[in-house]
Amino acid sequence: MPELKLTPSTFACRIHDNREKLTPLVRGAVIQRTAAFMVGGANDFRVVVECPGAGTKEDGAHPLTFSGKWSRE
Ligand SMILES: [Zn+2]
Repeated sequence: MPELKLTPSTFACRIHDNREKLTPLVRGAVIQRTAAFMVGGANDFRVVVECPGAGTKEDGAHPLTFSGKWSRE
């Protein structure tokens, strides 16, 4: 199975700058969604993932929507 390529290649919360956490979450969400209509070539995606936030009550987890393109290389 070719590698899934996402554009952009990393995803981060503008407030929390946690791309190392959010990028795998976005990849996982795209993989689940694209598995149903995997035909190759470029496609748009739009997924909602949960940013863990700063881990405090005032600044906790919140949903984020990311969009981009996916392809198989
Ligand atoms: Zn956040």
